[in-house]
Amino acid sequence: MIVEIIPCLSDNYSYLIHEKKTNTISIVDPSEFGACDKVISRYKKLDFILNTHHHVDHVGANLELKKKYNAKILGSNSDKDRIPGIDILLKENQKQRIGNLEFEVMFIPGHTKGHVAFFFEKEKTAFTGDTLFSLGCGRVFEGTHEEMFNSLNKIKNLPQETKIYCGHEYTNSNLNFCLAYDSKNPLLKEKQIDIQKKINSNQPTIPVTLGQEIKTNIFLRCNDPEIKHALGLKDSSEVEVFSKLRELKDSF
Ligand code: ZN
Ligand code: FE
Repeated sequence: MIVEIIPCLSDNYSYLIHEKKTNTISIVDPSEFGACDKVISRYKKLDFILNTHHHVDHVGANLELKKKYNAKILGSNSDKDRIPGIDILLKENQKQRIGNLEFEVMFIPGHTKGHVAFFFEKEKTAFTGDTLFSLGCGRVFEGTHEEMFNSLNKIKNLPQETKIYCGHEYTNSNLNFCLAYDSKNPLLKEKQIDIQKKINSNQPTIPVTLGQEIKTNIFLRCNDPEIKHALGLKDSSEVEVFSKLRELKDSF
């Protein structure tokens, strides 16, 4: 499995997946036709389009790519009326093959009602859309804070070595939020140097491993005593801490 990162729009990432054995080409969340097609055209084919959710910055190039390459579009069953051109309806926990690769459909509502992640167990790779970002998480538009919290916990339970490919390059602004409320975390300072280096040389900060995220992403650390203390929520539950963090981040 080879993953090519395709920067789109101002801060989106689409991902091309090349499975060499059967020469199967797939793309995750094609937001912009021009940028995606430039990469796809090197392979001269596109077999599958995978959408994590229905937002236009994730499905914007669906129809044009489908028309040009006759690709099949896969998305959540519960978003069948909102994902343009959808062909294959994915159900929760379903296993699905694309060429020689197999992924599991993780149902992770919160950002939107029908949001899914694609987890490739053998390759230890997950595409998390706008649910888990590096050092952050997506805004809660259609679900509840509790749903988002539960969805993040599902991802948190994947193997630590899992490589996370998310929908946006928000890492630097997420870092500033983490530093504001988890200022004593030494790993964040280390990460800051690495992030700045990448951003200054125009490199994506993605992928990251889940293990790194669990140690540095404040939204995965709602049970940390230092963070609870910084928020004045010493005796609150994990989900209450999450909810507070999400509110603070919304206006950060
Ligand atoms: Zn979105
Ligand atoms: Fe998005």
